[in-house]
Amino acid sequence: MTTRPLNILLTGGTGYIGSHTAVVLQEAGHCVFIYDNFCNSDPAVSHTLQKITGQPFKTIQGDIRDTALLQQTLETHHIDAVIHFAGLKAVGESGTIPVDYYANNVQGTISLLQAMQAASNQPKTLVFSSSATVYGDPQYLPIDESHPTKATNPYGRTKLHIEEILGDLARADNTWRIACLRYFNPVGAHASGLIGENPNGIPNNLMPFVAQVAVGKLKQLNVFGDDYDTPDGTGVRDYIHVMDLAEGHLAALNYLGRSVGADSATNIHTFNLGTGRGYSVLEMVKAFESASARSVPFHIAPRRAGDIASCYASTALAAEQLGWTAKRDLQAMCDSSWYFQQNVSTSTGR
Ligand code: NAD
Ligand code: UDP
Repeated sequence: MTTRPLNILLTGGTGYIGSHTAVVLQEAGHCVFIYDNFCNSDPAVSHTLQKITGQPFKTIQGDIRDTALLQQTLETHHIDAVIHFAGLKAVGESGTIPVDYYANNVQGTISLLQAMQAASNQPKTLVFSSSATVYGDPQYLPIDESHPTKATNPYGRTKLHIEEILGDLARADNTWRIACLRYFNPVGAHASGLIGENPNGIPNNLMPFVAQVAVGKLKQLNVFGDDYDTPDGTGVRDYIHVMDLAEGHLAALNYLGRSVGADSATNIHTFNLGTGRGYSVLEMVKAFESASARSVPFHIAPRRAGDIASCYASTALAAEQLGWTAKRDLQAMCDSSWYFQQNVSTSTGR
């Protein structure tokens, strides 16, 4: 447990995972500051966060590659810790514009680290949004944190490069406290239905696509392959409720707070954040149909390039070290996602 409220900066804090984490941190008594360039989010989210928590959120509009503005932000608000969500995340797009992905994600992280080092208050606690994509095609299941890494696309490689940079930094300076959180498949929304995942254009990910089919915005789901070596032939993933994921960040911050004073070998830590349970595409469709009482028409399409058959986490390390496990079930994931989708459709006509 952290002993005092912290001033925490969330880069990318108006995005999908950052906004849910902002609520959890604020409700835990911390003071949250958001830094975002809104390239994939709506500035209005910070007002929505205020509505949910009843507390004001200070939001700074800026790019993580603007080192001077970041340094000024860290100093002005006496930031103690940073959770670094900001990044581009579309796997397919990363193959088309890889240089933009390296510039935004890798260069942006270097800029953040430079700002943290230069800031007079020297905040040296960092939680980084990594991804299960760094494991590539699993050699065994469930995937634990010692599974070999091998990213298969530029997006995944940006995450691996960043993890390596953070490892070098931790080895060079043992006053840093760093956690790399490898997320599995975040889905669902806050119970208020006011924040959730609302991608621009046609969704790449399964859950928002299914939700938009259920609400009638999209005609049918393409199920990418039914000939995988899985119980029903469709891909299996470890879907985790975004509120559980958000609570994982609080647990990681508390853990880093407890680890102050530990020796240099233990100042960087890597944790899977997943449920440990896999569901197939068809199981997800069925669960969503039941939550929404709508049908989700689908047809079987060819496999999507780069997809793997199955992926789910070993959750033992996070349970043991962070004292954190995911609590919300598939029903809660689908119910909250459907509630949010209905709100979005009503308020935007989309
Ligand atoms: P998101 O796109 O909703 O949020 C990212 C936020 O970062 C957005 O608000 C965007 O405007 C901001 N941003 C991007 N580049 C920026 C820059 N240069 N300067 C300032 N702000 C910038 O994505 P998300 O789903 O909330 O993901 C958050 C993090 O988690 C990302 O780093 C992502 O790679 C990682 N992650 C996401 C998933 C997932 O499935 N959602 C899975 C694994 C890892
Ligand atoms: N998927 C699908 N149709 C879609 C989107 C995804 O069948 O329109 C499948 C995909 O092949 C994978 C699973 O759903 O088996 C999860 O895909 P998603 O893109 O959400 O996450 P990923 O695990 O690929 O990052």
